[in-house]
Amino acid sequence: MLNLVLFGPPGAGKGTQSEKLIDKYQLVHLSTGDLLRSQIAAQTELGLRAKALMDQGVLVPDEVVIGMIDSKLRENQAAAGFIFDGFPRTVRQAEALDDLLSQYNEQITVMVALEVDQEELTKRLLLRGQSSGRPDDQNEELIRRRVSEYNEKTTPVAGYYQQQGKYVGINGIGDIEDIFQTISNEIEKRHS
Ligand code: AMP
Repeated sequence: MLNLVLFGPPGAGKGTQSEKLIDKYQLVHLSTGDLLRSQIAAQTELGLRAKALMDQGVLVPDEVVIGMIDSKLRENQAAAGFIFDGFPRTVRQAEALDDLLSQYNEQITVMVALEVDQEELTKRLLLRGQSSGRPDDQNEELIRRRVSEYNEKTTPVAGYYQQQGKYVGINGIGDIEDIFQTISNEIEKRHS
């Protein structure tokens, strides 16, 4: 199995690169942001609780997203692999993901981190907000909160994978195809 964590701040290009990687490697896409947004659309209790936090640009509780990933892994046992997008966002989530995968005798193959500076991120997110309809992309204050939440709580996750020798940092500014090629090369070094 190829199990890839795609890492990077909001607006780094995780969604764009995910689509291409899924196509190439036939992976199941697990985006906790998308899963939460579908709970909101379905107006579930979980969705309503998550929305209040997402509207403030802060993380939802670890147990909520870990539970969602647990059930998706269970539902997709025949998958060729997974791409984790926007998850894990805390060290606690990273540890839980290792535990969940070990139940299937699986592990993370590599974590690919897309690196993009704050100024470029804000520009990209405001642009995305014009077409995505995502309320959290339309307000500069909220964007800043999400990036600072990322810096504070999510950056340590990179250290977690670094310790396991699984971290690869990639410049997320440049041609989409070139970035995709670099990611593919890194994957193929670790997965045959
Ligand atoms: P995203 O689509 O990944 O940018 O996520 C949008 C929002 O959903 C974030 O700002 C968080 O409030 C929430 N969220 C998504 N994934 C997670 C996660 N793994 N842990 C906690 N909160 C999350």
